[in-house]
Amino acid sequence: MCSISEKRLIKQTFRFELDPNRAQRVMLAKSVGASRFVYNWGLAESQREYELTGRRPRLSELKSRLVELKKTECPWFYEVSAHISQQALVDLNWAFERFFERLKSQGPKSGFPRFKKKGRHESARLYEVSLEARHIRLPMIGRVRLKETRAERGFDGRILSATIVRRADRWFAALAVEREREVVVAKPVKRASDVVGVDLGLTSAAVIHDGTETRTLEASRRLRKNLTKLRRLDRQLSRKQTGSRNREKAKLRRARLHYKVSCQRNDFLHKLSSELARTKSVIVLEDLHLKGMQRNRSLALSISDAAMGGLRRQLAYKSEWYGARLVVAGRFFPSSKTCSGCGVMKETLSLHERVFHCSACGLSLDRDENAAINLRRYGVKELGIVPLPEGLREVTPDREEGSGSTLGRRAKPASVTQEATARRARGTTRRSTPNGVLVRFRGGTNHPAEYPHPRGPRSRGQSDESASGPSG
Ligand SMILES: [Zn+2]
Repeated sequence: MCSISEKRLIKQTFRFELDPNRAQRVMLAKSVGASRFVYNWGLAESQREYELTGRRPRLSELKSRLVELKKTECPWFYEVSAHISQQALVDLNWAFERFFERLKSQGPKSGFPRFKKKGRHESARLYEVSLEARHIRLPMIGRVRLKETRAERGFDGRILSATIVRRADRWFAALAVEREREVVVAKPVKRASDVVGVDLGLTSAAVIHDGTETRTLEASRRLRKNLTKLRRLDRQLSRKQTGSRNREKAKLRRARLHYKVSCQRNDFLHKLSSELARTKSVIVLEDLHLKGMQRNRSLALSISDAAMGGLRRQLAYKSEWYGARLVVAGRFFPSSKTCSGCGVMKETLSLHERVFHCSACGLSLDRDENAAINLRRYGVKELGIVPLPEGLREVTPDREEGSGSTLGRRAKPASVTQEATARRARGTTRRSTPNGVLVRFRGGTNHPAEYPHPRGPRSRGQSDESASGPSG
């Protein structure tokens, strides 16, 4: 079978690890420090003004106040690129806009911009960056050596901006580029198995359901072992005294391991996303695991959130490359709580319950498998893929119509109003790309964090800084 393809201008991110000398390390640290300082300053300024006048200062106002600040109180800003502080304010503005957009869409009421902490948010955006064979030129920092050459990474395209990031004690530059690429035109759905529902388990295993079969992909043993280790380090860290040297050492150990885990996890996700985007026509994912669980921020959960976010970002651009369609179920879609056998929804399902047991129809199966089946169904319904040649029976009748299955009477059916709110929320943030990729991003698409990753499964050793802060 030969698929049709066409040239298209796409955005992509190439991530390079830097090999800075001592002076450059100092400058890099100053740059991310300045970015954080300005962000926090702008946030404090906005809060102060809001309390006084009931409105927050405009971006342009903040920018001109920043110029004053530079002249009077913070002359050290002149040591780093002027773009850094300007961009920090732009980022802050995005954070506010996202927050207000979410308020309007009746989504979860979280997400008010927060102060950035040292050691946690270490990044800065730069412009006027150029790439040489083995070096990168960063304004005010100079010519920094790369750990991999431009050719080794297969770099191609026009650089739009660069984000420098510190992870543990290593430095990276993520280059957002624009380039032409051959992309496959959307694949049709020919068989039932062309549509898959994917659920990620808490420990990074993936469960894929294709209408008839369920496949479980396990994360590597190394990754699972490191996750256990990370949990142990976390406990150790909490016992160390604040401000002590031992705590600092433990923190660095933890940051290093966290970085390693995120690399291994991303590796796993890249393999998964490439395989799915290449071989499937429609891929259905759930939104982050956030639903109603914000209070219960366990490490496992935050890792699984980050994994979901990473997988979604990867699939967003890979499906465009390979002509698949991505459907992300709304935040309120009860994929885990709904019985895939009879459609009845449970009131609660604790995280520890690994097996889904339905008291209405007696169905009993793996929790993640149940979710994957529900997600696949959601996608089928959402896209209106009705007459599938096979597996037609997989499509459940519309529950919202209240088609009274006598079995379902005892328990509460998936609430109609909840679905309706979910719809509304979805409607406001849905974006579609030329290929009809349905993606619900939480933020503006211009943010480099949402630029796709460079290469498929080969991009070992990379992690997406936006997928996970160094800690949960
Ligand atoms: Zn059931």
